[in-house]
Amino acid sequence: MAAVLIIEDEQRIRETLARRLAERGYDVESAAAGLVGLELVIARPPDVVVLDLGLPDVDGREVLKMIRAVSAVPVIVATARDDETEIVRVLDAGADDYVVKPFSAEQLEARIRAVLRRGGGDDVGGTIEVGELSIYPQARVAQLSDRDLELTRKEFDLLLYLAERAGTVVGRRELLAEVWRQPYGGADKTVDVHLSWLRRKLGESAAKPVYLHTVRGVGVKLAAPTP
Ligand code: CA
Repeated sequence: MAAVLIIEDEQRIRETLARRLAERGYDVESAAAGLVGLELVIARPPDVVVLDLGLPDVDGREVLKMIRAVSAVPVIVATARDDETEIVRVLDAGADDYVVKPFSAEQLEARIRAVLRRGGGDDVGGTIEVGELSIYPQARVAQLSDRDLELTRKEFDLLLYLAERAGTVVGRRELLAEVWRQPYGGADKTVDVHLSWLRRKLGESAAKPVYLHTVRGVGVKLAAPTP
């Protein structure tokens, strides 16, 4: 069963979440401060971390950066502010998802299941092949003709999301919602900019697509090149 680490200073929230997740079969550990949490991430690597941003010792955003420096564990940030700028900032800083306080244990569990699914969970295999493109979700490595692609975190997430749906056109709004967890719309540029970076790294262009095909007004599709 998946191991969850809860880093939260409010005792009532921490204990309630720990109990409710344990009842659902998760292996739960908790820490009441940032540095203790970071030590636990290193000493007993969890499958997912739930990180409160307002911590007494170190700001949660700093804790997130420190976790990212040592681990690729999925991190779900719990924020008290339902503020788009703040949420985009923590996602950019490497959080995988977020919940806005107050949230229910059910809501958190749904997010936990989603990040575990995205990360491949215990499924160690799961290499995705599209033409000469190989993606190893667990190791977060993507190769084109056996050569490692140097992708940023979001570029990798984007490529993985498209590869899991190879041959299917995926809409920009879906990408924003699923890859960026940004169901607001309006920020379409984010998707386009990352797509153009990804294209360049795949050695292709929008004018001469090989793997990444834009379908005007609909979205984008990843597909093996036709011979
Ligand atoms: Ca707090």
